[in-house]
Amino acid sequence: MKVDEYAIPVISPDVEIVPFDKTTYLVLQHLYKHQLRISSQLYRVLELVDGRRNLHEIASELNKETHLIEPNGLLELLYTGRLTQCGVIQTSNPVAPRVSTSYLKLRLTLIKSRHIMPLARLCSFLFTPRFFYISGGLMLIGLGWAFLHFVNFRSFSVLIGSNSVNSFSIAFLYGMFYLSTLLHELGHASACRRFGATPGDIGFGFYLVMPVFYADVSDAWRVPAPQRVIIDLAGLYMEILLCTVLCGVFLLYGNIALLYMCLILLLRTYGNLNPFLRMDGYWALADALGRPNLRQDSIRKLLSCWHWLRKREASPFQKLSDYLLFLYALCSQLMIVALLTTVLFFNTKSVLLLPSLVWSIGVKIIRSYPDINLTWLYTAILELIPPILFYVLLINFLAKPARELSKLLQSFLVGKSKATPIPS
Ligand SMILES: [Zn+2]
Repeated sequence: MKVDEYAIPVISPDVEIVPFDKTTYLVLQHLYKHQLRISSQLYRVLELVDGRRNLHEIASELNKETHLIEPNGLLELLYTGRLTQCGVIQTSNPVAPRVSTSYLKLRLTLIKSRHIMPLARLCSFLFTPRFFYISGGLMLIGLGWAFLHFVNFRSFSVLIGSNSVNSFSIAFLYGMFYLSTLLHELGHASACRRFGATPGDIGFGFYLVMPVFYADVSDAWRVPAPQRVIIDLAGLYMEILLCTVLCGVFLLYGNIALLYMCLILLLRTYGNLNPFLRMDGYWALADALGRPNLRQDSIRKLLSCWHWLRKREASPFQKLSDYLLFLYALCSQLMIVALLTTVLFFNTKSVLLLPSLVWSIGVKIIRSYPDINLTWLYTAILELIPPILFYVLLINFLAKPARELSKLLQSFLVGKSKATPIPS
């Protein structure tokens, strides 16, 4: 590719640029599925790339606005970095489509986006910000009152631990689980629709080793952060709405089992608020703090502390938010260590002997094929979950420090003493 300072840069027709927060913009390359977050200065540069001005003219226009830049610097900015690699600026170079680095694995679409749209449109009124927060608050207060007033928590724990629950109740509870899960995903899609983003498919996948349902809300990045918080919490809102309806039926007909069911559904929902795993609570916190990459940012903060302690960088603590991010990073890492220790403690044998366990299960499946005992197979799969979870968590946990250690060793071996800059 040959470009000189009189070349006329052109933005690809598949590119859309939307405001992200007060100081940054999001560049969406729809054809290659790339997303870039850019500063307002770079946004101004792209505004001047109108397909008529050449690099020289753009540079002199920017210099009038005190963005001091040489045509050669502009050439480098537009043609050698991410803007070209992601197909934002048109060149003759091939562009690689974005490789999905989703934290969800083995995704399977259950409901296509076009089938969700009519329902999402119908429910979108729930997510008008004022209505959402007021009604959500009132429903929580109402449910709290009903639980405190009618539920005997001692008999509830006895009920959960006993075998006296009949099969009809269990079937009804499972039905409610699936209904609440579908409503949950519909909530995310409807809130997306409410704020002008296009909801994607609803499907099923694995997060770490947990089977989960998901709603594709990747288009929500075009929406401002306060509205993204509502999209993040919309699933929980729908579950609370379902519980409020069940509670209302209980108040009318007096069937206490419905109220216990609400409690079970809400206890399950509570887990979704965990801010350390990539669940709704995490995304809501990330958007509320204006840090879409909260996890990566927090790990970077820990690394910059490490560099600071080795006196190779300035102090990473400048503002209150730096301390909060450090605290979050610390809690997050401690939680992973606690989880790893717990899994190892209760499943020491299966963790240490995972290869031989997999081997023996595989051999047994091959030998007994096609007369495989499904109950045995189910138990065998359940037995494999804790050790696999352990290793997935361990690899995720050790990947960054291992990379840092290898960098450290490299710099030690070549006798370098210069710090590696950490992007913030
Ligand atoms: Zn959700």
